[in-house]
Amino acid sequence: MGEESADRLWMEGDGAFFIDLDGTLVEIVGHPEHAELTPAARGTLERLWARAGGAVALISGRSIASVDRIVAPLRLPVAGIHGAERRDAAGGLHRAPPVGEEQIACARWELGRIASTEPGVLLEDKGDALAVHYRGAPALEEELRGVVERLAAASGGTLEVQPGKCVVELRPAGHDKGGAVRAFMAEAPFAGRRPVFLGDDLTDEAGFLAVQAMGGAGIKVGAGPTEAAWRLPDPEAVVAWFNGQRSAYREGAEGGVTGKG
Ligand SMILES: [Mg+2]
Repeated sequence: MGEESADRLWMEGDGAFFIDLDGTLVEIVGHPEHAELTPAARGTLERLWARAGGAVALISGRSIASVDRIVAPLRLPVAGIHGAERRDAAGGLHRAPPVGEEQIACARWELGRIASTEPGVLLEDKGDALAVHYRGAPALEEELRGVVERLAAASGGTLEVQPGKCVVELRPAGHDKGGAVRAFMAEAPFAGRRPVFLGDDLTDEAGFLAVQAMGGAGIKVGAGPTEAAWRLPDPEAVVAWFNGQRSAYREGAEGGVTGKG
């Protein structure tokens, strides 16, 4: 991409938008069940969907059911569990082959035991993926990551480790957010549009790389190293950006918020 403003992608009306949820469109809270979409963000998504001809998909580490609950009454195309499940714009469901119950049951038992004995550690059971949140026990990061890495190694290539912000996850191997973006981009109404991916965490890097390889724009939300060419500071700024009230800034433009607001 050249020196073209990220805003132009939106203003020209030919964008396809791939949006992570937690930390990108909704603020991260202590318990994932307590995350809420603000009315402003919900209204923004609705208008974006109409203006982009329906080319708006949510790309989350959550399950599709959990994403639906947060954005209700909206029902958008969604990729869940970091791309392991996907609902296309026509409502069709695409799922990775289920992880063997014996693989996940052992991990569920061990991680559940840790969560029940360590204060501040929370196990989020997504069925084929298990997320261990340690926002309330940051000192346990290294130990928890070690346990999850060992469980992934014991799964014989079925499961892999997905690190994130105060979370380490065991998820089906071989799927990522980049794959989800490519699948959507092969279908109406996304095909032929310029993809824009907005995300805040390590799992979103695959999405940034995918859209940038297709001539689109990655927008990293918040601090931290990234492959994305553009940046916005927080979910509030994301909503403002969609509404044309502020600009994203280019990576490397020193603290250069060139926004209108
Ligand atoms: Mg996120």
